Amino acid sequence: MKCRHCATALHDVFLDLGSAPPSNAFLTADALNAPETWFPLKLFTCRNCLLVQVDEVQAHAELFTPDYVYYSSFSRSWLVHAERYVEQAVTRLKLNQNSLVMEIASNDGYLLQYVSSRGIPCVGIEPTNGTAVAARKKGIETLERFFGRDFAVEFVLEHRSAELIVANNVLAHVPDINDFVAGLAAALASEGTITVEFPHLMELVAKRQFDTVYHEHFSYFSLHTVRRIFAAYGLKVWDVEQLPTHGGSLRLWAAHAHSARAETPAVSALLDAEIAAGMLDIAYYQGFQAQADAVKNDCVAFLLEQRRTGRNIAGYGAAAKGNTLLNYAGVRPDLLPYVIDASPHKQGHWLPGSRIPVLAESRLREDRPDFVLILPWNLREEIVTQLDYIRDWGGQFVVAVPRLEIL
Ligand SMILES: [Zn+2]
Repeated sequence: MKCRHCATALHDVFLDLGSAPPSNAFLTADALNAPETWFPLKLFTCRNCLLVQVDEVQAHAELFTPDYVYYSSFSRSWLVHAERYVEQAVTRLKLNQNSLVMEIASNDGYLLQYVSSRGIPCVGIEPTNGTAVAARKKGIETLERFFGRDFAVEFVLEHRSAELIVANNVLAHVPDINDFVAGLAAALASEGTITVEFPHLMELVAKRQFDTVYHEHFSYFSLHTVRRIFAAYGLKVWDVEQLPTHGGSLRLWAAHAHSARAETPAVSALLDAEIAAGMLDIAYYQGFQAQADAVKNDCVAFLLEQRRTGRNIAGYGAAAKGNTLLNYAGVRPDLLPYVIDASPHKQGHWLPGSRIPVLAESRLREDRPDFVLILPWNLREEIVTQLDYIRDWGGQFVVAVPRLEIL
């Protein structure tokens, strides 16, 4: 097995979570009678380029099924994040009706709707049919294709190159990272800008966020490593922002190496912070399993204790993170009888692997549970505010990451 960027043989295990089904493969009632496909979930560190990566990349077709249940527009805070980004990019890059904005993995048009409403031409690239159809209903031109070098070359011949390419929250999910970054370079106008967002590996390690590891999340990056991969395709990173999304993400602003864009001081400052954290040393990557196991063991101990003492507990948030934690911890409905989720696309389904049912929020008022375990810890403030009424019957909130805490 070799590194997907530099082809160095991989020997150093970063994290081994056993095996699990794809985290978005929610089950219908009919599917409960059938077996599920579980894949190993194990990450390695490349000793040469320090890219942290899954050991095997499963076929796209298997992981992104047509009944894919994630629709971006269902998260309010995510829409606010997207709109602010568009406002900033349009001003900073002076985009207008003569520009072209391309978004890769444009989902249901959650972001491009704000580009389109400013009269700026845009196109979405989205391989998932259900979300592409939803985007077209918003008037967003959407091509149902996977992005890569071949697509980019073909696109530029048929249309034109893009002044802004948005690849926010997609870089980590790309199986062939070299082909993808080559495509970014091929589709970008001479003085154009690419922005990419991805969870920052430094934050993942510092905050013990092992539950953000799942099969569709192929790569885990430091700024050092992304900069190296971009440089291999003639791209330079000219600015970086640290964002609170997904527990701590980076947003990079990149351009062709020959572009007139000058590097901001934020780039060297963050490179220095990574060096100070030890990220250029392999030892940094060798202690993470013990951190993940501590989180998992504390969570299981808490659930067992509530079960023994006869207290009721409900989960909240049927997201990928929760599935990683619950499957690694071996939690089943005896310890967590159900998970509440606001999305009607998830309600009436069962979580993959753990087979815990997903129910609507009304169930909380009926059951009045003693504890609500918040699985998407990145949304904990929002969820605590929204479910504040559980305090009326003495209910309490719990999070498991970065450490077990009763709020
Ligand atoms: Zn490598």
